[in-house]
Amino acid sequence: MEALDVGILTEWLTRAAQRFGAEQAHLCDLDAAIGDGDHGANLARGFAAVATKMAGAETASGLFKMVGMTLIGTVGGASGPLYGTLFIEMGKEAANHATLDQSAWAQVLAAGLAGVMARGKARPGDKTMIDALAPAVKAMTGAADLSTALASAAAAARLGAAETIPLIAHKGRASYLGDRAVGHQDPGATSLAMLLAVLAELVG
Ligand code: ADP
Ligand code: MG
Repeated sequence: MEALDVGILTEWLTRAAQRFGAEQAHLCDLDAAIGDGDHGANLARGFAAVATKMAGAETASGLFKMVGMTLIGTVGGASGPLYGTLFIEMGKEAANHATLDQSAWAQVLAAGLAGVMARGKARPGDKTMIDALAPAVKAMTGAADLSTALASAAAAARLGAAETIPLIAHKGRASYLGDRAVGHQDPGATSLAMLLAVLAELVG
């Protein structure tokens, strides 16, 4: 596959909704350890709402803006506005590209990362979803083709999520725990890695 079109992106988000449904308890368990235990329920609810609204989306940009607004309206918590911002900024950047090939998708993902960082003020190493997203953006460039790039991005996100385990959190509820957050994987980094894994599986 050379580029991502609105059909494949719709399929991605449909499968993401299924994955977050299936992983709801796992993500809630991660959040119970260093937060309030609702991350899986938040995302399952938000993406289930997204899945009911995607029919008829004509462009990737329009699709992502709808996804972002829906997530802001339904996810709640800290992650709702952040996941919402991710998709809204991805949607804005997608509008600048006629086709979402490897280079365009790298820019779309980078715009999403910049939006989440501007909104949440977290940086790499703060034990948040940024620790999965930032390495994924980096991994997009330099790969041989789109499917390889998506696989590399997913692998980098997964590793980044695992690497949150020894960290102290500097943002979100987990930051109240100080060094008691050490030894636990960040739920938002984990869900972000799942989201990118679903896309890599679909395209790979
Ligand atoms: P809440 O913490 O309000 O219950 P969730 O449980 O849905 O919200 O989401 C928690 C996740 O949100 C964390 O695991 C972390 O990855 C992410 N998060 C929290 N604050 C920030 C932030 N400022 N920037 C980026 N991600 C954040
Ligand atoms: Mg929570």
